[in-house]
Amino acid sequence: MRTFTKHRRLIAAAASLALLATACGDDGGDDGAEDGGDAEATAEEGEFEEGSTMAAIQEADVLRVGVKYDQPLFGVQTPGGVEGFDAEIARLIAEGIWGEGGADNVEFQEAVSANREPFLQQDTVDIVVATYTINDERKELVGFAGPYYEAGQDIMVAKGNPEGIGGVEDLTGKTICSVEGSTSLDNINEMVEDPEEVIALDTYSACAEELAQGRVQAVSTDNVILIGLIDERPDDFELVDNPFTEEPYGIGVQLEAEDFRDWINDRLEQLYESGEWEAAWDATAGVVVPAPEPPAVDRY
Ligand code: GLU
Repeated sequence: MRTFTKHRRLIAAAASLALLATACGDDGGDDGAEDGGDAEATAEEGEFEEGSTMAAIQEADVLRVGVKYDQPLFGVQTPGGVEGFDAEIARLIAEGIWGEGGADNVEFQEAVSANREPFLQQDTVDIVVATYTINDERKELVGFAGPYYEAGQDIMVAKGNPEGIGGVEDLTGKTICSVEGSTSLDNINEMVEDPEEVIALDTYSACAEELAQGRVQAVSTDNVILIGLIDERPDDFELVDNPFTEEPYGIGVQLEAEDFRDWINDRLEQLYESGEWEAAWDATAGVVVPAPEPPAVDRY
């Protein structure tokens, strides 16, 4: 697996190319890079209104981030740091707060699906970037910026698909593993008629182990999470590849931090525009899944 440092370098290189292209394409004559400067200065240099959530975080010199530690492509703890698209999104948000080098102020904490809302509600973290689907039920408890990616729920089976599972309708009578506190588990409970058993564990990597041991016949969650797990064990698992839900990934913030939610949405749009979002994708999940178009942010 590539190292964290190499990822950062790749992202930085791709992003500067994208910025260069933007600057060169600027309207004729005057200096495009300098020109855009004023509009971007506030967001890039991070001058925030006193009393705002962003000013408080900047002052504290740390952005506390809940991220998965066991999900290939999105959040994986390695000796060199946390790797993956979610981790990169968090670093890019930090660079918007402190400018270049701001990524060093990110402090990651391991989030599992079930502790994402409590992490925000109890002020354990400032943001959660953890394959976190935006939905109305969760919006009662936390705020969401984004979406910054759109996944769909799918099914992972043993290599060769011995049970011939072609979609969610084939899960009747089967033993299925998913994760506590996830939309994936809720959807399985709602959509699968008469399963043999639905097992709820803490993490998808634990479900993958159950599948590898033959103790369950299917694991169900977002396609990109499953693709990451399959990428690590291509001889053991395969994807059914018949998604049956829409899972827009949001950046969770504390419910009252509406200013931060707005600012992160602005920052995301900036990252779409500059090419940094795509560069982050290419250096992480992009090794397996080609970069999609970035989704429009939803300022609900
Ligand atoms: N995106 C879904 C969710 O937020 C499933 C993935 C996960 O549990 O992290 O619940």
